[in-house]
This record gives sequence, C-alpha cells and structure tokens, in this order.
Amino acid sequence: MTDLASNLEKLAPHLDRLKSKGIAHRIAGQDVTGASFANHSPVDGSVICDVARGTEADIDAAAQAAKEAFPAWRDMPGTARKKLLHAVADAIEANAEKIALCESWDTGQPIRFMAKAALRGAENFRFFADRAPSARDGQHLPSSTLMNVTTRVPIGPVGVITPWNTPFMLSTWKIAPALAAGCTVVHKPAEFSPVTARLLIEIAEEAGLPPGVWNMVNGFGEDAGKALTEHPAIKAIAFVGESKTGAMIQAQGAPTLKRCHFELGGKNPVVVFDDADLPRALDAAIFMIYSLNGERCTSSSRLLVQESIAETFEAQLAERVAKIRTGNPLDPQTELGPLIHATHHAKVTSYFAKATEEGATIATGGTVPEGPGHYVAPTLFTGARNDMAIAQEEIFGPVLTAIRFKDEEEALQIANDVPYGLTAYVWTQDITRAMRVTDGLEAGMIWVNSENVRHLPTPFGGLKASGIGRDGGDWSFEFYMEQKHIGFATGTHKIPRLGVS
Ligand code: NAD
Repeated sequence: MTDLASNLEKLAPHLDRLKSKGIAHRIAGQDVTGASFANHSPVDGSVICDVARGTEADIDAAAQAAKEAFPAWRDMPGTARKKLLHAVADAIEANAEKIALCESWDTGQPIRFMAKAALRGAENFRFFADRAPSARDGQHLPSSTLMNVTTRVPIGPVGVITPWNTPFMLSTWKIAPALAAGCTVVHKPAEFSPVTARLLIEIAEEAGLPPGVWNMVNGFGEDAGKALTEHPAIKAIAFVGESKTGAMIQAQGAPTLKRCHFELGGKNPVVVFDDADLPRALDAAIFMIYSLNGERCTSSSRLLVQESIAETFEAQLAERVAKIRTGNPLDPQTELGPLIHATHHAKVTSYFAKATEEGATIATGGTVPEGPGHYVAPTLFTGARNDMAIAQEEIFGPVLTAIRFKDEEEALQIANDVPYGLTAYVWTQDITRAMRVTDGLEAGMIWVNSENVRHLPTPFGGLKASGIGRDGGDWSFEFYMEQKHIGFATGTHKIPRLGVS
C-alpha cells in the first residue's frame, strides 16, 4: 500500500465520525446545534461534514458560560492550571496523527508539515502551562513613603478569532496563554477549516478542563465573529486574520472598549545580497514561500535580489520551483497541496494575468493543473517592480515576486515600501551590513541567514498593517492580564488636609 493509500485509510474512520455527527458549537461543555453549513475539502470538493452556523444568541450563551466559569478558573491556583494544561498537551500528542490527517484534509496543507503542527500545538500548551504559576507575579517598587507592589490579574472572558490557515496550531497559540493567564475563552474558528478546532476542544475537555472555561461557536465572521467582538461580557479579542478584518473588529469593539490584539497580513521581503551563502539563501527563500501552500502570514513573498547575482539566482530558483511536487496533501511526498477554497483560488490565480499586464514575467508556473481540487502551479514572477500589485498585495499562495536591487540603500527602500511590516529575512555574510539593514527594516520579526525559526520566548507580531501587540514569552500574558498597583503606607507621611481652618 502506498503511503497515500494508507493515510486515506487511516483518515476514513475520522471522516465517518465527522460526517455522522457534524460539528456542533460547544458551550458550557454541551453540544449546541442549529442552522448549519456544509464544510468541503479543498482536495476534491467533497463534503466533510455539516457545521453549526453560530448566531448572536449562540455567542451570547457562550459568553455567559465563559463569564460564569471565570471566577473559579481565575482563582484556581496556578499550579493546578499548569497541571491541567500539561494534561491537554499530553492528549494533543496522543492524538497527533488524527489531528494531522484531519487538518490536511480540511485545509489542503501537506501532511509533511501538518504532522509537526500538531506537536507544535502541544508545545504551545506546555510552554504557557509552565508559566501559569508565575503569571500573577509583579514588582516591588518602594518609595520613601510607600511600599508599592504590582500584581497581574486575568482580564476576564476573552474572544479568540482564528483564520483558516494552519488552524490547529494558531488556535493553540492564542488559547493556551489565555487559559494559563486565568482567562476563560470563547473561540470562533474560521468557517473554511473548522475540523481541528472541534478536535482540540474535545481533547481539552477529555483532559479535564472544566465546562465553560473554553467554549467554541462556529460560523461566519459577519454574524458569529461580529457578535463576539461586540459582546459586553467579552473583555478582549485576540484576532489572527486579514488586516482589513482587523480594522473592522477594532470598529466593532469600540463601543464596548475592547482590548484588541491583532496578528494580520504580510508582504514580507527576503533580501539576498551578493555576498550571501547563496545555496542556503535559495533553500530558505523557496521554503518560506512554497511551504504551507504559501498560505502563511510570515511567508517571504517578495524576493529582493542584488543585481550582480540576480540572473543566476533567479534561474536556479525557477528550476527548483518548477520541480516542487504538487499533489494530494495526504501523500507524504507532496510539497504543495490545494488552496483552501474556490474564492481564494480565484484570488490567487487572478494575479497571473495582473503580473503580465503590469509588465512582469512569469518565470515558472502561472497555470492551474487539470482536475478537481483548488490546485495552482508554484509560481515565480521575475522582472517585477515594487509598485506593482504583485509586489504590494498579499497574494497568500505559492507565488513569489522577484525584484532586483542595486545596493543596500535601494534594498531597504524597496523592503519598507509596502503597507505591511510582519517579517523580513536578510542574507549576507557581512555582519555590519546585517546590523545596519536590520536596524532600518520596518518589520516586527527579522531573521538573518535563516528561515523563520520560531522560539516561543521571543515576541511574535508585526508593525504597520501587520498587527498590534505581541505574542510569545511574557508578552502574551501582558495582553490577557491587567496590571494592578497597590501602595502600602510604611509610616505616617503628611496627607494634605482640606477643610480645616
Ligand atoms: P479573515 O480575516 O478573512 O478571517 C479570519 C477570521 O475572522 C475568521 O474566523 C472569520 O470568520 C473572522 N471574521 C471575518 N470577518 C469578521 C468580522 N467582521 N468580525 C469578527 N470576525 C470576523 O482571514 P483569513 O482569510 O481566514 O486568513 C488569512 C489572513 O490571516 C491572511 O491575511 C494572513 O496573513 C493572516 N494571518 C496572519 C497571521 C499572523 O500571525 N500575523 C497568522 C496567520 C494568518
């Protein structure tokens, strides 16, 4: 049996269960159903299951459940929360294969990457579980009259809204720190890939998470998502998705003064100087745009290459890109799977004509393979200018735009001349140049001579239209918690006396 056939066989019982049960909301530990919509696989368009379509009333029930569960969860000792969250991580690891297979079928992401996504989800839980006991710790800031101390308290029930790309990993990334901080959660997963969010909440409840601490309402952004951002019991919204959706959420949350954390889009440059280790730069540039189907916020979607090496580098790139293995995402050989859905496919492929209209060259790809599924050929545009739509707009597919630059100054100018500022990648052997360039780059995260290698204690987030706020390390707790200051008089300092003659 091929690996693909054996993966399809392993997936079959999970699909049978999903089809027969559908995906209900999960509110206060109970399934809640109602109107529904069909969820399709991007691989062949087949229906995976029906999914409950959340309404304002469902969001209200979930927010109330989170509000009721909040005091007990907040007051539970951090060590007890730590134990529970480690139990969730254990259960994720035990279910890693099921999660990977389902995520692959639901999103079109190749199984070779999804196997690791499940384990990274467990790692997210462990990282924040270990920090739960110290989450409330503060500082001692004495003055001459007061012993000032600070402490942190969880902000309250929070809303988490996630996108369809790598939904499992991203859900854990937002929910684990919220729970570790002592917040309760209402999660609204993306409508296009709801399967593993359901597996995740089932896993968490089976691992012992009390009912109501984590609730999930499925459905669309314009109804369930919007209602969540407007609900008065929800104190903060952690959102991952498009920049324009972030702007809408900020407006929707304004009347209830929502604290918002935004992880948004990107049009990230990989800057290759002529003194770089070119074979490694080539590997990294390819990996950072063609892995995860290019549906990755941190993807290096603009290649800025120095003129002196551009011809050779682009030729080698085109040769490699043309050889990327496109196919069924459950085949372990597959490097590029289908895009999430038809609308997104139409958006990505619309840039093929735009590229040539604007005067760029399609060096490879630019085609749609025959057959079912939302596949596109891995695509490379060369001869591009930074003012073209293919250089300015987030395409969010396996599509790379190559732009040439003359010198360091021009590289920086091009790199920064986009609305976004999420990540940047710099390839040079010259350490002083690397320091100058990283200093000048407008990006929240920069890697030098490396692809994106995530280290959980470091801050994750973007500048400009790429986001507000940071995740990772203690930054996540800063978002999910409130600071409190308490001043204790240490003596009888002079208090101004009013109303005495
Ligand atoms: P999207 O903004 O369309 O949707 C994201 C989520 O928001 C979905 O759950 C959706 O239902 C919900 N939503 C939509 N409208 C809403 C509204 N008015 N109120 C409340 N919720 C609403 O994004 P997408 O297409 O699912 O995901 C792709 C985008 O996500 C890309 O732009 C990508 O760069 C970005 N992303 C960013 C990061 C990061 O860390 N910066 C990570 C992953 C993805």
